[in-house]
Amino acid sequence: MAPSRSRQTGSHKAHSLARQWKAKRRRRDLDQIHQDLLPENAAKLLRQEPDAELPGSAQHYCLHCARYFVDLKSLKDHFKSKVHKRRLKQLSEEPYTQEEAERAAGMGSYIPPKTVEIHTQPLDEMEESN
Ligand SMILES: [Zn+2]
Repeated sequence: MAPSRSRQTGSHKAHSLARQWKAKRRRRDLDQIHQDLLPENAAKLLRQEPDAELPGSAQHYCLHCARYFVDLKSLKDHFKSKVHKRRLKQLSEEPYTQEEAERAAGMGSYIPPKTVEIHTQPLDEMEESN
């Protein structure tokens, strides 16, 4: 049984995310994922404490899509899916927001956006434990 507090939080979040998606806020979503892809953040997301309230106890997470999967097979299938591939493409095409670019320019360290290479996260470690 999930405590009602978490259930409410979860459904509220899902609801507002769906609204954001429709309200052209996808770019912000991608920005968040770019943050998640930073090595120190990615390491934490891929080594989460087991959480029984999340699919697969939060042990099978796709960094690029910010989604949890129930098991390794689902995660692997997801990696091959159109949804995931489209997300990789989006992430490589929109590396920074205008706001970030301006902030970087103001700091005198502006580097023109270039295409970033986005790869599906490695699964080696997870496969070993399977
Ligand atoms: Zn994905």
